[in-house]
Amino acid sequence: SSMFNRMITIIHTNYTEAIHAKNKLEEKQYELEETNNTLEKIAYTDCLTGLANRAAFLRDATNLLHNHDGNIARHAIIFLDLDNFKNVNDTLGHDYGDLLLQQVSSKLSSFMGEGDIFARTGGDEFLVLRNKVESTTELDQFASTLVSIANHPFVLDDETVQISMSIGVALFPQNGLTVTELIKNADIAMYSAKTSGKNNYMFFNSSMEDEVNRKNEIADILRDAIANNELYLVYQPQTNIREGGVIGSEALMRLRSSYLGYISPAEFIPVAEECGLIDTLGNWALEEACRFNKSLIDQGFTPRTVSVNVSSVQLKGNKILPTIRRILSETQMPPEYLEIELTESVLMHSIDHNLYLMNEIKKMGVHIALDDFGTGYSSFNYLTSMPINTLKIDKSFIDGICVQEKDRYIAETIISLAHKMNIAVVAEGVEEQEQLDILQHSDCDIIQGYIFSKPLTDKEYIELLAGNSDEEEE
Ligand code: C2E
Ligand code: MG
Ligand code: MG
Repeated sequence: SSMFNRMITIIHTNYTEAIHAKNKLEEKQYELEETNNTLEKIAYTDCLTGLANRAAFLRDATNLLHNHDGNIARHAIIFLDLDNFKNVNDTLGHDYGDLLLQQVSSKLSSFMGEGDIFARTGGDEFLVLRNKVESTTELDQFASTLVSIANHPFVLDDETVQISMSIGVALFPQNGLTVTELIKNADIAMYSAKTSGKNNYMFFNSSMEDEVNRKNEIADILRDAIANNELYLVYQPQTNIREGGVIGSEALMRLRSSYLGYISPAEFIPVAEECGLIDTLGNWALEEACRFNKSLIDQGFTPRTVSVNVSSVQLKGNKILPTIRRILSETQMPPEYLEIELTESVLMHSIDHNLYLMNEIKKMGVHIALDDFGTGYSSFNYLTSMPINTLKIDKSFIDGICVQEKDRYIAETIISLAHKMNIAVVAEGVEEQEQLDILQHSDCDIIQGYIFSKPLTDKEYIELLAGNSDEEEE
């Protein structure tokens, strides 16, 4: 019996230990589950705003779209993007940027309905899955409410900021069956809202997709356009309005693709600017134009100016300065026969930086023209501070001078003001004799337009110069 008792004691001790071990294991399992939950929460939460993040959105939206009981409900995916958010970060700093994102998310959150999924999916990008859409009207109202929410001023500590938001909407199932496709299409619609002036919402339609596809095709073509010899320059003569002789030309880029045919610069230049190719193309144009103009001088023609368009995107950083220096030195083109055309948009962003660049360019002896004057931002105030040699009045303005007394009066004023500042005036896009008469009367200096000549190939331009003057071509 004593053996039996000992055995019982041992069994009892073992049992107690086993129970203890079991409890410990259970405790550990609980801890692991907790950690797991926390990790999952972190993995699926945006830590700045506490909203769902992209991964969570994809998971939950996919579940929602695919777990239907046979009746497919209509849903919408809404892509929201703050306009010019970068400005807040740049001017007030990232702490204020973060505060703004937190406030925007909490304001928007309060407008979400039951079953909606709301997430922050990137810097200033948000996605909403609008659950069970009853009608397009209701969705219209919802999107317009979201736009107007962003328009209220946000108070961030001691600063008040005014922002806006662009929104794109894609409908399930019409605009896509998968969440990724719907997000892509809502993004395309959002992009359209941005390009048509921001602070706005748009519903996706397939023509938007065609536009994006065309842009991508053009971007692909542009990447190899120089190597494939699909890019070339034409030269539009500029004539002295008083004496009539050709005083120079504007170099204009042309693209003829073996795949898409002729593409106008109005279409491909913005694509090049957007996809980061404008520096390469712009430098190519500058070099090509300088080489051509130098070759004209070498052939014995009277030296004339060549004007080259430089996009304001090319003015980011200081790289344009060494580029112009290198090209002038490599082509041996005298700087005074090069004119750089900048548009008024140089006045809209980084004015101080752009003024610095313009002054540096001027110091090299290169001339500067302000292009497309009269199309939007025309400020006489800035004119006085800009080191420009030439002012080009835009075609849209010239078109009006025969029709509207007001336009004629403004043109006269611009010309006389420019002359007081020693700035020469070019009228662009002159097509009719009547326009020419008015411009002559208003004391304009130079004309560039179809009335005199369309842009010419290099060969045609040489022929024009050779035929036009008695002193040239030895
Ligand atoms: P822009 O610099 O204002 O060039 C003048 C535009 O007006 C040219 O259009 C020219 O062909 C057109 N034009 C001139 N006279 C007349 C006329 O009498 N009637 C009409 N209807 N049009 C006239 P284009 O060549 O299509 O160029 C459009 C724009 O593309 C240019 O406007 C310029 O902003 C841009 N661009 C062209 N080449 C380059 C380039 O090499 N670099 C950059 N950054 N932009 C360029
Ligand atoms: Mg121009
Ligand atoms: Mg122009």
